[in-house]
Amino acid sequence: MIRIPGNRSLHSPGPTHVPAEVLNAMHRQPLDHGDPRLGETIDAIDAGLKRLLQAKDCEVFQFAANGHGAWEAAIVNLVAPERAVLVPGTGHFSEQWAVQAEGCGRKAHRTPFREGYPADPNDIEKALRADTKREIAAVFAVHTDTASSSTNDLRAIRAAINASGHPALFVVDVVASLAAAPFSMQEVGANVAVGASQKGLMSPPGLGFVATDKQAREVAAANPAPRHYWDWKRRQASYSYNKFCGTPPQNLLFGVEAALDLLFREGMENVFARHALLARAVQAAVQAWSREGAVRFFCRVPEARSVSVTTIEMTQGHDPEAMREIARERFQVAIAGALGAQTGKAFRIGHLGDLNAPMILGALAGVEAAMTVQGIPFGRDGVQQAVACIAKG
Ligand SMILES: *Cc1c(COP(=O)(O)O)cnc(C)c1O
Repeated sequence: MIRIPGNRSLHSPGPTHVPAEVLNAMHRQPLDHGDPRLGETIDAIDAGLKRLLQAKDCEVFQFAANGHGAWEAAIVNLVAPERAVLVPGTGHFSEQWAVQAEGCGRKAHRTPFREGYPADPNDIEKALRADTKREIAAVFAVHTDTASSSTNDLRAIRAAINASGHPALFVVDVVASLAAAPFSMQEVGANVAVGASQKGLMSPPGLGFVATDKQAREVAAANPAPRHYWDWKRRQASYSYNKFCGTPPQNLLFGVEAALDLLFREGMENVFARHALLARAVQAAVQAWSREGAVRFFCRVPEARSVSVTTIEMTQGHDPEAMREIARERFQVAIAGALGAQTGKAFRIGHLGDLNAPMILGALAGVEAAMTVQGIPFGRDGVQQAVACIAKG
């Protein structure tokens, strides 16, 4: 391979750019299982995640797994074999969670996904009211669906669950929103939050986690479903080896500990404000690009547009995959393709994690260059609008 000078820019909505401090923290020899330093790192991550999630009286369980592993931990611990989950339709990720529940032998009810729109809380209330047999054990809601790039109103979903009078648990996937959009388990009344390391947490992939409140742990304790690796009870141990049901992914843990430290040093209010500003800059560019009619926002509801990722549709006759390849190979800007029904019809710009204004402006310019090469018409002042947005602050 020929050497490519300079940085290659990663703008997928996970994995995201890993800061040097995190990479450096990982660059060390592993420890023996009994070394107290390892326990200290695991405890620091536990405490950091609780702080980040604003989880009160919660227990966090960490897994050597990606987000799908953490999904499975929620499914097998919370849902008895003959029970069901209700999955509000938010896009490809909600659908995959439902499919995974079915793969584990559970029933999954879905509320309809309307393309371009976040989940409708009325649908959730209706589905829960219709469940007179109380088959549904939990509502599995995705906060930011990384495929559709819409963020769902978790308070409204909690209100819908309450209004229905149904005792289902509220389980929230914050894989793509944690440390990007404000989230508080306490405020939204989530019983469980599910996350992973490689998005807002600015770390390499491979650490999944769940935060569980007392009610969720009681439901899990009463659930007879066979399980071993994912079993929360088994993870309630003091020895690091038992906490991870085997060898912890040590170097990854050193990285996540460093990443949490970076976030808290920046201050979460600043982290959220930075994400909001960079998202507005991307949206300003997409708005300008859209004028020529070849591209447009997939998410039709401006206030539901995610601060983590923006999905951009292309009209027929234009190939987002070819454009993406040019962006990556010629301009060193890696953006993401679309998922599910949008595959081949849209692309996604990730704008979460360890990013600043020039990185985002560079990504937008790279996309403009690739669209120019491909002859895709777009409003030429995209980067200019993004600059104006950032200058305004
Ligand atoms: C990325 C993502 C997942 C899956 O995480 P993996 O680590 O890829 O398994 C789940 N939910 C959401 C919302 C995501 O963005």
